[in-house]
Amino acid sequence: MGHLLPTKSPWARTASSGGGVATAPTTNGRRVSRYAPGAQVAHSARERASYTNSLATRAPEIAEQWHPPLNGAKTPHDFAWKSSYAAQWKCPNGPDHEWRAQISSRTHGDAGCPFCAGHRVSVTNCLPALFPEIAREWHGKLNRPLTPHDVTAGSKRLCWWRCRRRPWHMWRTAVQQRIAGTGCPYCHRSAVRR
Ligand SMILES: [Zn+2]
Ligand SMILES: [Zn+2]
Repeated sequence: MGHLLPTKSPWARTASSGGGVATAPTTNGRRVSRYAPGAQVAHSARERASYTNSLATRAPEIAEQWHPPLNGAKTPHDFAWKSSYAAQWKCPNGPDHEWRAQISSRTHGDAGCPFCAGHRVSVTNCLPALFPEIAREWHGKLNRPLTPHDVTAGSKRLCWWRCRRRPWHMWRTAVQQRIAGTGCPYCHRSAVRR
């Protein structure tokens, strides 16, 4: 198959039109070509990278979040922008904003960094980072093994709290509720009674 170079091959055309698995020259869509740059990782026609359909060309702003060390020697030039390859990504907004996602999920309807979006917890969006005063009321023992660093400030998770003024006051409520401004219900009750 030496005459079937990537630029002229039928599967390169199929890849750019977004079609299904090509018939030739890969018989099962899995055979590795020695000619395509992303050959070792490409699995089907839509995965084939060419200059015009590569991730680097079609979605440079997403390619910028490519994680060089974690993706090894692979680069955004090696993958089609519709590839289903699960790559590693890195966002500049936090040292631990690193995640794995299919290239196609990023280039088609991308939700962006899951840490910036608050879907996953990081050093930049955990409770102590954003609300240190509230994190101080975290009940270490009752929430074990969870720590305040394991929850985002917007979390709906029910957690135990210990009143900072009267440490024997303990209650359970969602992190989100604390952020919304609710405090110790016992202190609140006695304040109302007064
Ligand atoms: Zn981020
Ligand atoms: Zn209290």
